[in-house]
Amino acid sequence: MKKHNFSAGPCILPQEVFKEASQAILDFNNSGLSILEISHRSADFVSVMEEARMLALDLLGLKDKGYKALFLQGGASTQFLMVAYNLLEKKAAYLNTGTWSSKAIKEAKLFGEVVEVATSKDKNFSYIPKSYSIPQDADYFHCTSNNTIFGTQIKEFPSVSKPLVCDMSSDIFSREMDFSKFDLIYAGAQKNMGPAGTTLVIIQEEILGKVSREIPSMMDYATHISKDSMFNTPSVYAVYVSLLTLRWIKANGGVRAMEERNNKKAEILYNEIDRNPLFKGFAAKEDRSAMNATFNLTNEKHKEVFDKMWKDAGVNGLNGHRSVGGYRASMYNALSLESVEVVVDLMQELEKKV
Ligand SMILES: *Cc1c(COP(=O)(O)O)cnc(C)c1O
Repeated sequence: MKKHNFSAGPCILPQEVFKEASQAILDFNNSGLSILEISHRSADFVSVMEEARMLALDLLGLKDKGYKALFLQGGASTQFLMVAYNLLEKKAAYLNTGTWSSKAIKEAKLFGEVVEVATSKDKNFSYIPKSYSIPQDADYFHCTSNNTIFGTQIKEFPSVSKPLVCDMSSDIFSREMDFSKFDLIYAGAQKNMGPAGTTLVIIQEEILGKVSREIPSMMDYATHISKDSMFNTPSVYAVYVSLLTLRWIKANGGVRAMEERNNKKAEILYNEIDRNPLFKGFAAKEDRSAMNATFNLTNEKHKEVFDKMWKDAGVNGLNGHRSVGGYRASMYNALSLESVEVVVDLMQELEKKV
């Protein structure tokens, strides 16, 4: 039986993508070869890379606006240091909204002064700080659009005169916004865009070349831009499966349609969390993430019963992260409304049972 997969990452991808991706392992484009055994310099793969880079910009409304898209390796975690390597000359400003922001801050400190403009650590990162000021002399401002672990999401981004850098690993392509506000966006593929193994980086080219340090080739965005994201062997298969997912997003109405679906899913789950006396939401209401909903039981004694119920119903990955406890429902683009309804029904069943 196919499970209802709420895994936080790597996570659910569209079933159509799995089918097409598995076919390409056996015979890619009727070439008589597997995608796993061809050169990354072959025409077939070069066109995969080019289409993926263009489609990523297209879906975000960033075509012909000075942006370059790259598919790199090393995960979003490598972007924590690459951002600072390439952009931090003296001082950078960071908003600390959770585990991933904290890790980004730690890496940036290796390269210069880091000003933490605000943090929500005082309440276990259950909200998004809103009033803070960004130092005039900061080289850039860094934030995390969606906090995968705590289930909070930035709804309104500050207007800044500096380069705006954002880790969008867990909500890229999930909602519409003016992406041209951002100068550098990065996202590990495995949350909402593809399998583990590649990281999308989108850069406004004019922000580069402003630091005085020498940057090793692999750490230098300019290297990857000049080689069309093929400076070294890219993660061929991860890029291909990401492309299939991007095509699926486009064919299903683009980011706007994803957002509508995601909002519907989030609404029915949060409504139940708020209605059902056995559950309570973890994140501040106005900051709730449409991607990762975090919630706890009001009485831990029901845990064993509820856990058995959802596991028996074919639900996967509903356990919360250890730093929040309780439950986390990750409702990425490919998760169906029906899967969310299954969990809502189980919550109601639990209420009747106890
Ligand atoms: C998962 C995650 C990361 C880390 O990604 P890796 O690809 O494992 O390095 C960073 N930021 C956010 C917001 C994440 O959800």
